[in-house]
Amino acid sequence: MSIGRRSLLTGGIAASSAFAGKNKRDRKAKPAAAGPGMQDLERICALPVLKREGLNSPVIIDSIRLLKKDKEYIVHVRSKDGAEGVSLTNPPRADFLGHILKELVIPVFTGKDARDLDNLLWELYRYESNYKMYGIALWSPQAWVEFAILDMLGRVANRPMGALVGDIVRHETPIYVASGRRDSTPEVEIAYLQKLVSQSGAKALKFRVGGRMSRNADAMPGRTETLIPLVRKTFGDAFDIHADSNSSYDPPHAIKVGRMLEEIKAVYFEEPCEFDHLEETKAVADALTIPVAGGEQEFSEYRFRWMIANRGVDIVQPDLHYYGGMIRSMRVARMAAAAKMPTTVHISGGFGFVYMLHFASCVPDAGKYQEYKLGTEKYGSWFDGGITVKDGRMSIPRGPGVGIKDIRGLLQGAKEV
Ligand SMILES: [Mg+2]
Repeated sequence: MSIGRRSLLTGGIAASSAFAGKNKRDRKAKPAAAGPGMQDLERICALPVLKREGLNSPVIIDSIRLLKKDKEYIVHVRSKDGAEGVSLTNPPRADFLGHILKELVIPVFTGKDARDLDNLLWELYRYESNYKMYGIALWSPQAWVEFAILDMLGRVANRPMGALVGDIVRHETPIYVASGRRDSTPEVEIAYLQKLVSQSGAKALKFRVGGRMSRNADAMPGRTETLIPLVRKTFGDAFDIHADSNSSYDPPHAIKVGRMLEEIKAVYFEEPCEFDHLEETKAVADALTIPVAGGEQEFSEYRFRWMIANRGVDIVQPDLHYYGGMIRSMRVARMAAAAKMPTTVHISGGFGFVYMLHFASCVPDAGKYQEYKLGTEKYGSWFDGGITVKDGRMSIPRGPGVGIKDIRGLLQGAKEV
């Protein structure tokens, strides 16, 4: 890989400015033999993830239920010995994936020892040809059950979720706040970003460029090229800026927008090309000096492996819900670590940032920032000591499992659906 791209990932903005002026040939220098090969990565993926410390006797799953309270869907798991765990679904997927959860996912787990989670996920994949539905349809319900089981196992072992799938390396993480808007003129977007920054306490932000899966059309004429320099000018040089095109461009357009992002020394450029067009995404990553991030809609371990082995992106971003939970995402992070690439998970909204925090607690290179779409004001008080943001850094819950201190209280008034 190019010295420029690798340096950027560890050196941030300072490195970005050092390489922004290099010529195209320097940008594209990238030895093919760098990093681990496909077979090395395959071996990494075959290693078990769940850690059994503190789980000395079987934890037999007695029931898994889908509950609803107000607008929130909760998956509740209970063991034969009365251990419990919960997860919150990614809104609003449970409205239409609840049927898959109940008919095709839960039956695989009931009566089984939760400590066999790694193997149970493979059983789930094969059950009733579930693999034919892989993607959000299968991986989201899988993630809900996996999170609830990890919560239960964490409570049994008295360990936070992160300690069940890795070694805890941090108790807080820097965050950027993300705008999801494209309906805004540059001026309206700036005002909106300022509001998000003041609400979140973040010292970094992400905004959207392009038109979202738009075959190069902008959300409104001139929005992207006006907004990119305006964001830098408004927030100043000390602010870290990320941009996401949500699959908007072909490589020539993506590279053009990428050059503008290089000019303002952006931290990274997310999903420049259609998300599943790996060759185009790689062409953009090869051409730019700033890192290219992607993977929020990647559903295949083999394709993540390809992207990592071939440096198709510079930062991998599995979504903890869309990609089927902590265990699958940890396998991606392990592959990425072998290639010295960060894994910065993508998150669905709502409660999703809590799982992101646990994942970031145990991934040594989780990137410079984690994404935040607000939520502490609603969910923070559920945790011992709360979830707080100070100086742009968010605290990570330390209690057992997911860290919700009062499961009984949460379940009060919840109805089975
Ligand atoms: Mg994105």
